[in-house]
Amino acid sequence: MAAAASISEGGTAASTSERTATDSASTIASTDPLIKADHYTIDASLNTKKHQLTESVTMHVVNNTDGEVSRLCIVNTAYGYLKYDRKYYKFDVKKNAKTSIRGISAGGKALSYKPGKDPSDLFVDLGDSRLAPGQSIDVTVKVTTSVPKREDRFGYTRLAGGKTLYNLSFCFPYLSDYRGGKWNYHPYYDDGENRNSAVSDYDITFRAPKSYTVAAVGKSSTEDGITKIHAANVREMAICASDAYKKQSWTFNGTRVNNYYFPGRYKKSKYMKLYNKVCKSVANESLDLYTKNIGPYAYDELDLVECLFGFGFGGMEYPGLAMINGNLEYYAKKQSQCNFDSLRSNVTHEIAHQWFYAAVGSDEYAEAWLDEGPVSFLETVEFKLADSSSSALVDKIEKTPGKTARLRKEYFTDIRKEMKKQLKSGKKTYVNVPVNKYPKDQVTSLIPYDYGCRFMGYLYLAMGADAFHSALHDYYETYSMKQATTEDFVNVIRRHDNAEKVNAIIKLFVK
Ligand SMILES: [Zn+2]
Repeated sequence: MAAAASISEGGTAASTSERTATDSASTIASTDPLIKADHYTIDASLNTKKHQLTESVTMHVVNNTDGEVSRLCIVNTAYGYLKYDRKYYKFDVKKNAKTSIRGISAGGKALSYKPGKDPSDLFVDLGDSRLAPGQSIDVTVKVTTSVPKREDRFGYTRLAGGKTLYNLSFCFPYLSDYRGGKWNYHPYYDDGENRNSAVSDYDITFRAPKSYTVAAVGKSSTEDGITKIHAANVREMAICASDAYKKQSWTFNGTRVNNYYFPGRYKKSKYMKLYNKVCKSVANESLDLYTKNIGPYAYDELDLVECLFGFGFGGMEYPGLAMINGNLEYYAKKQSQCNFDSLRSNVTHEIAHQWFYAAVGSDEYAEAWLDEGPVSFLETVEFKLADSSSSALVDKIEKTPGKTARLRKEYFTDIRKEMKKQLKSGKKTYVNVPVNKYPKDQVTSLIPYDYGCRFMGYLYLAMGADAFHSALHDYYETYSMKQATTEDFVNVIRRHDNAEKVNAIIKLFVK
């Protein structure tokens, strides 16, 4: 997720096709969960009158443990999401907004299940269908879920001219992560994410009114209101559907980029043109920079999808898809100019998540910094402080010539001083803290985004750009399509630079 603008201020190329072929979701990596759903088949219908999503989700579950498996944990995040909404968004969200499980079955036979302490977690008893080592089973969950009226990652938004936007994520039930001999699930977390899923393949049939344009994780095509979606090696599904979208597509270095936007939302059409121009320029340059510094982009396609998130945050990452908050410049248009500087931050931030979150997975609840830290550094320093056509373009639109060069000078002067001071004082700013252990008096973005970004900045200075990028490249190559931990990250850094200073920096940030 991209933090709010105010805070955030401060594959495929050839190698991906290879990876898709040789390292498919069913391959067991050392860090793969031992009970795993390697494929999901989903049939989902969106009722735009009732604002309701009806789903049948079939997951192919494989037992790769050496013991028998008699119980599964299936997570329906929509429960936690709607509960949160009813509490904090009660003006918008109907009291009766709910998610109802219509049944869980295998081979046509109903399975019994019990909700956990958090009813998002469903413990399914496999009964006679329990799995011997190496066995697999297809488990089907039928669920109907209200889509709340909320400008967010799951919700619908009324647009001008009687049009509507649906953001559908966190509403597809999935098999919980199983590793270390237990199910690892977390409650819904609104200020960030509770995700920790391994990669799987998805095949989806999604039904919506014929007038709707659909953007989804993976590749999709729509005919007569039916969208067929296929996604390989992705950690989750997300769909954005609207009867107002227009799409602009291009290919950059072998990656197909689709930019979904709302036309005619601005009184002056020049804003629309500039929105698209900035999105395209930032997307191409981000793909280029992160490929060079870290490794090849993991998918064939990248979807940039304009969404309306109010002022809460700038965007949201999914595998091969980024929701981009179009509100920032929409409100700004009432002022003398649009906020294209924030747009640039948001687009590059969500694209950077394709490297850290989509490709290299992590537990976003237990170690939120592990994707947000490197991503914040890539966004605010590596991308935004570099001279590039997009920085020149935005500096020109915003009438702030030379701003990028000035900020770069300031950043490096400040971070050098800060690092010297903190190494001297030894003041700890730990990053590997679970989100439910953040100090209550701190803003929730401080640890994962600010401390995480600072940790990266110190390492960059101490190691030098070349060694720092080699380490990121190594980390990416080692953990792409797997899940990494803080310990894995630190071990890779030490492999590239085990100097006393680097270790002293690690001690400031890692418990
Ligand atoms: Zn983020």
